[in-house]
Amino acid sequence: MDAIFIPQLTKAPERTEEVQVNESLPGLETLTPVRGTIRVQHQGNYLEVSGQAETIITCTCNRCLQQYNQRLAVNTKEIIWLDEKANQTEHLPLEMEVAIEDLVETVTPDGYFYPSEWLYEQMCLAIPQRQLCDRNCPGILDKVAGSSEEIVDSRWSALQSLKKQLPE
Ligand SMILES: [Zn+2]
Repeated sequence: MDAIFIPQLTKAPERTEEVQVNESLPGLETLTPVRGTIRVQHQGNYLEVSGQAETIITCTCNRCLQQYNQRLAVNTKEIIWLDEKANQTEHLPLEMEVAIEDLVETVTPDGYFYPSEWLYEQMCLAIPQRQLCDRNCPGILDKVAGSSEEIVDSRWSALQSLKKQLPE
């Protein structure tokens, strides 16, 4: 995905550029390429960015730790302010905590907009915090308890059959 040179956008038809997405995004592990569309419109003092995209990711169930695949989709719109001072955030000391929102919501009017990075952020935000393979997933505790019972049982029965073999 190419970066969009923001001044160029003002000369585009309807001051809009549409980007077709069909690729994997750096830093985002997906099973299928991310497919969708990003639309960037120059509105004078801000950019209106909207995007629809989807892919499939591998999640790990919070309860049973099994992996499962899940569809990940975004359909979102965001306002990104054009501000000459936007670049100043780059000179902040590294230790200073800067919220992701603060970094992405402002760009310089003579700079670039990076559709790939924007979409990456949106996809990350869409990843479910609570991952469950199934709403009724019994979880790992039940499974462990069940299997350890079986182990005890089989040992027990082995012991029983051994006992029978021993001469009295
Ligand atoms: Zn599970």
